[in-house]
Amino acid sequence: MTDILGLSILELCYIAASITFILGLKMLSSPDKARKGNLIAAYGMGLAIMATILFKEELTADKWLNYALILGGLVVGTVVGTRMAMKVKMTAMPQMVSFFNGMGGACAAVISLVEFDHSLTSGHVETGMMIVIILGLIIGSVSFAGSIVAYGKLEGKIGDKALPAGQIFNIILLIAILGLGTYISTGIFEGGIITPPIYIYVLLVLSLLYGILLVMPIGGADMPVVISLLNSFTGMAAAFGGFLYGNQAMLTGGILVGSAGTILTVLMCTAMNRSLTNVIIGSFGGGGAAAASGGEQGTVKEISTTDAAILLAYASKVSVVPGYGLAVAQAQHTVHSLEKILDEKGVEMTYAIHPVAGRMPGHMNVLLAEADVPYPKLLEMEEANDGMANTDVVLVIGANDVVNPAAETDPTSPIYGMPIIDVLNAKNVIVMKRSMGKGYAGIENSLFFHDKNRMLFGDAKDSLEKLVAEVKNL
Ligand code: NAP
Repeated sequence: MTDILGLSILELCYIAASITFILGLKMLSSPDKARKGNLIAAYGMGLAIMATILFKEELTADKWLNYALILGGLVVGTVVGTRMAMKVKMTAMPQMVSFFNGMGGACAAVISLVEFDHSLTSGHVETGMMIVIILGLIIGSVSFAGSIVAYGKLEGKIGDKALPAGQIFNIILLIAILGLGTYISTGIFEGGIITPPIYIYVLLVLSLLYGILLVMPIGGADMPVVISLLNSFTGMAAAFGGFLYGNQAMLTGGILVGSAGTILTVLMCTAMNRSLTNVIIGSFGGGGAAAASGGEQGTVKEISTTDAAILLAYASKVSVVPGYGLAVAQAQHTVHSLEKILDEKGVEMTYAIHPVAGRMPGHMNVLLAEADVPYPKLLEMEEANDGMANTDVVLVIGANDVVNPAAETDPTSPIYGMPIIDVLNAKNVIVMKRSMGKGYAGIENSLFFHDKNRMLFGDAKDSLEKLVAEVKNL
C-alpha cells in the first residue's frame, strides 16, 4: 500500500477519523452545533470502518462470508439505530443512551472473547495482551449488564432491589473477578499461562452478575449518573479493543468516550453536591433518607391565570426557570409561544438553565432547542443569577430542587451546597406546578411559602396555554 508522509492510507484514515471524533465532541458542547458535530463524528466512524475493511488486509474472495457478515451487521445496525432514534421521545432519551451504551459494552466483551480464543488457537499468548483482553472482557460485561438494568429501571420494567448485605457480596464478587482475571492472564498459580477456555466463560458470567448487582439497588432517579459512569466503562473497554487490534481510531474513540463519561459523571455529582460513592450506595431520590426538612412552613399564596398574565405583560424582564415538570408536561412549544407573544409586547424573556435541571445533562437545552427557542435566550446559571435583581417576574415551570433555598440556608438538607437559581432576588416569583409535591430530592421547598412567591397550580402545559391566551388579550 502506498505511503504518504510515511503513513499508510489506513493510518491516515484513522487520523482523519480521530480528528472528526474530537471535533464532534467539541461541537456537542454547544446546542446549535451539536447536530452537526454528531454527524461529523458519525461520518468519521463510517470512514474508520470502511478503511478497516478495505485497507487492513488484502480483500480476497475466500473471505466473502466475513464481508457479508460485516456488511449485514452494518445494515441491520443502521436500520435499527435510525428507527429507534427517530421514534424515541425526548423524555425517554436516557433509556436509549443506556441501551446503546450496553451494546458498546457487549461489543467490547465479544472482541475480548474472540481475541482470547484466537490467542489460544494461534499459540500466540503474551501476558500483556492477555491482561488487555481480560480487562476488556470484565469492563465490557459489567457495562453491558449494568446498562441493560439501568434501561429496564428507566423504562419502569425493573424496580430498585437490593440483596441483604449486597454491598459486601459485591465486594467479594469483585475480588473473585479480579483474582480469576489475574489467574487467567498471568497463570501466576501455575508459573505459566495455563488457560482452560472454560475459565474465561466463568469470568464472563461473574462480570455480568457484578454489573447487574451493582446497578440493581441504585435509585431510579440516580440512573443518569450511573449511565454516565457506565458510558465511561464502555469507552475504556473500547480503548482496550483498539489496543488489541492496533486500531488508532478505536483507541482514540474509546479514550474520548471514557474520559468524557468520567468528566460528565464528576460534573453531575458536583452539580448535585454529592460524591460518587453516595450515588452508588446512597438512597437520594429513592425516598427514605432524603425526605426530611419540613415542619410548619407558613402559608402558600396562589395567583390566578389572569393576574399572572397581567404581571407578565406589564413586565420589562421575565426569566423562566424550566425544570423536570416542563419535560413531563411536554410544554416546551407552549413556553416558546409565550416568549414570542411577550416579545411582541416588548417584554424581554430569557431562560435560566440550571446544570442539573431535568433528569439528564443538557435536558433543558435539548428540550428548548426542540421547540426552536433561540439559543442566545438560554442563560447559564451564573449569568441568569447575575441578572436576577433586574428581573420583574420569574416563572418557575416544573422546577423544584434547582430553586430550593435550602441548598443555601439549611446545612442539614441533602441538597445543601448545590448552587441554585436565586429566584428570590427577582421582584416577583410565580411557581407553576400541579401540587405541593416534592421534587427529585424528596424535600420540602420553602420558596413555595415565601412572601414574594405565588403558586399557579396545574399541569405546566395547560397553565401555559391559558396564560398565552390571556396575555394575547391584554
Ligand atoms: P425536580 O426537583 O425533580 O422537580 C420537578 C417538579 O416538577 C416536581 O416538584 C413536580 O411537582 C413538577 N411537575 C411534574 N410534572 C409536572 C407537570 N406535568 N406540570 C407541572 N409541574 C410538574 O426538578 P428540577 O428542579 O428540574 O431538579 C432536577 C433534580 O433532578 C435535581 O435534584 C437534580 O439533582 C436531579 N438530577 C438531575 C440530573 C441531570 O442530569 N439533570 C441527573 C440526576 C438527578 P408536582 O408533582 O407538584 O407537579
